[in-house]
Amino acid sequence: MKIIKYEEFKKQGEALFGPDPREWLFECPSCKTAQTFHDFAKLGITAENVPYLLGHECIGRYDKSKGCLWVVGDVFVLHKIEIDRGREKHEPHFKLVGT
Ligand SMILES: [Zn+2]
Repeated sequence: MKIIKYEEFKKQGEALFGPDPREWLFECPSCKTAQTFHDFAKLGITAENVPYLLGHECIGRYDKSKGCLWVVGDVFVLHKIEIDRGREKHEPHFKLVGT
């Protein structure tokens, strides 16, 4: 498990995919599907709600054709990073594709 400060995570995302986090690709630790903000938005999930899901829940929970229901922070741990946002608890998170 790698603990990564939010500022460092943001730098990685920007270096890989540009300044707009909606373009960043996250990889589900279970099915390895790459997913972005736009993938969730296309399924009708509102822009306010996507940030709570993206990087935490697999797109497969909303697109049944993917066949994956993974959620980080559940009983089983597959995720490789946790983000340190300066809070008491670190945030389990999908890794960025290519990291
Ligand atoms: Zn998945």
